[in-house]
Amino acid sequence: MIRINDITDKVLDYNIDADIDFIRRAYVYSAQVHQGQTRLSGEPYLMHPLEVAGILADMKFDEVSIAAALLHDVIEDTWASDEDLKEMFGEEVHIIVAGVTKLSVLTFGSSQEREAENIRKMILAMADDIRVILIKLADRLHNMRTLHFHKSDEKKRKIAQETLDIYTPIAARLGIYWIKSELENIAFKYTMPNEFRRIKSMVNTDKEDRMEYVEEVKNLILDKMEKSGLGCEVFGRHKQYYSIFQKMVSQDLEFREIYDLTAFRVILESIPQCYEALGLIHSMWKPIPNKFKDYIGVPKPNMYQSLHTTMIGPYGERIEIQIRTKEMDRVAKSGIAAHWTYKEGSKADEKLNNQFTWIQNLLDTHQDYKDPKEFLENVKIDLFPDDVYVFTPQGEIKNMPKGACPVDFAYTIHTEVGNQCIGAKVNGRLVSLNHELQTGDIVEIMTRKGSHPSKDWINFVITVKARSRIRQWIKSQDTERSLDLGREMLDKTFKKKRLNFSTAIKSGEIDRVIEELGYKNIDSLITAVGYGKVTPLQVLGKFTQKPSTPEDQDKLLSKLMNRVAEKKKRITEDGVMVKGLDDILIRFGKCCSPVPGDSIIGYITIGQGVTVHRIGCKSALKMNPDRSVDVEWADGITESYPVTIEVKAMDRVGLLADLSLSISKNNANILSANTEIKSTSVSFCFFKITVDGTDRLDRVLNDIKKIRSIQEVKRVT
Ligand code: MN
Repeated sequence: MIRINDITDKVLDYNIDADIDFIRRAYVYSAQVHQGQTRLSGEPYLMHPLEVAGILADMKFDEVSIAAALLHDVIEDTWASDEDLKEMFGEEVHIIVAGVTKLSVLTFGSSQEREAENIRKMILAMADDIRVILIKLADRLHNMRTLHFHKSDEKKRKIAQETLDIYTPIAARLGIYWIKSELENIAFKYTMPNEFRRIKSMVNTDKEDRMEYVEEVKNLILDKMEKSGLGCEVFGRHKQYYSIFQKMVSQDLEFREIYDLTAFRVILESIPQCYEALGLIHSMWKPIPNKFKDYIGVPKPNMYQSLHTTMIGPYGERIEIQIRTKEMDRVAKSGIAAHWTYKEGSKADEKLNNQFTWIQNLLDTHQDYKDPKEFLENVKIDLFPDDVYVFTPQGEIKNMPKGACPVDFAYTIHTEVGNQCIGAKVNGRLVSLNHELQTGDIVEIMTRKGSHPSKDWINFVITVKARSRIRQWIKSQDTERSLDLGREMLDKTFKKKRLNFSTAIKSGEIDRVIEELGYKNIDSLITAVGYGKVTPLQVLGKFTQKPSTPEDQDKLLSKLMNRVAEKKKRITEDGVMVKGLDDILIRFGKCCSPVPGDSIIGYITIGQGVTVHRIGCKSALKMNPDRSVDVEWADGITESYPVTIEVKAMDRVGLLADLSLSISKNNANILSANTEIKSTSVSFCFFKITVDGTDRLDRVLNDIKKIRSIQEVKRVT
């Protein structure tokens, strides 16, 4: 049983300057107004707000959150009024408690539509003050922990289902994974009792062996770290019942295959230590290729940072390991809510503050809403600043990027809905197709069979899907028109020479021409004529010529080359400019993986576009120089290109860690890493990384050279 002193002790543990008196006043008031009420468990009602406050204290939240947690049910369940709260505990606490109360009065229906509506309300409420949602989550967590006191099975099942539908997605979205998984586990027991029992009994069969195993691995890791002078904490855990169940269902795996998976977490002081620990752990067990993820170098959007790796453990089983600093662990535990948690040393973390100024803005512009409806209509959600949430008329949520319009929305539903879209209603009112959608909008798309996209949609859609589908349609239209035009031109030209183009097709005589001109089939040749890429006279000329010889082939090529030279430079989407043809296909030689900054050369292959190689590439030297074409890198390339580097080094502890660190320090991404130990002491490491150019690559190579015990570093060609 938790007491107020336990809570104040916890708070003082992480914030010695905390206003304990404020928390105590909230406690005393809550005790007064809840006097005489009991929970289903028979305990005094006060236990509930105490537990909720305790959960927030475990997450190191500020005094206002803790006080608000102690008071979270007083408006709803007691004679206390909004004014009382405001007067005694100030505006901030009042707003939070009022927010929690507003959420509490929501009724959760069973139909999909009503659930969507409720999630919408939850998300909208976050904009008011995210602490409202945090208290609501802690409140739900304690209610779930005590769910077994409910008498009715039906009621238990309903509450559990609601938890899975509404609360766990929100906890996940906020990055508070421990709450998500505890809620899921309890809910699992009530929503799918048979599956729950089955997995529980399977887990329990060799529970003791498992515990021993976790201890053993934990100690092995601790020993290794200690020997290298790395102070750390190691935690081992089994997979939760619900996540075992989900994995079995989603990946269609047997219980054994999943249960073998044990996860460990190593917590260190600094980022370099993390990479060092990674190297040490990789030296203990064999890492599974492509399972390494560097979320320290590239954090998740909800700020999660960690190194993830999976290895073959001492008994041939899989082990998942997460490596991170204490600070990263703190963020991982409270997710984006880390913003409000107390931080040692500094009161406000600058970087964090910048990242979350949008939350701050929301708090500054909050309003006092009189009724829930007004509250919903007026609060603008901006929790995820680059997303808007809109709804289908059936209440299904669609997540769209900010700035999306009804056409974007139509294409997320179905390509045909997009293609046949003729109008849209937002919240029941007709809007233009380029109308910017806002969170909470209910969007209805009107379609007409046989209707088509319009070219100018390209100017205002912002989603990749809509853009590519519209382009595809325009292109297919152009192709159709070119096909008609080309056909007409060829018919006329052939007629002038008293030849019949249709007959030439039917007899197959034209096939040779198609091949010689480098087209796949008759339609692509006709289309090319329609586009003006090939003249009808060229086709006719080929047709009347005798079958081609190798010399003719060469002539054809040189003609192609001339055309290439005639045309202006063109920037392709691949970041390479070819003095070349329209819609020419660019490919990069796998042999030499060119990156921006390299001197490059292209080689034309009939029908296959241009392959770009580095000048001096061995396989490029074998190509026919007559087919070469000048290419150069376009300006302002933002893309990254893959390149492989090879490092020869004396093997030592922490080598891989040092290498990874120096690569990621230079903002290059590691796609894969492989180590071969050639002799007892020399190892060769191959890293496939992506860089935006040779400058960055050079920096990476130079930095690696400086690392101790490195003998040679080079780019693999
Ligand atoms: Mn409550």
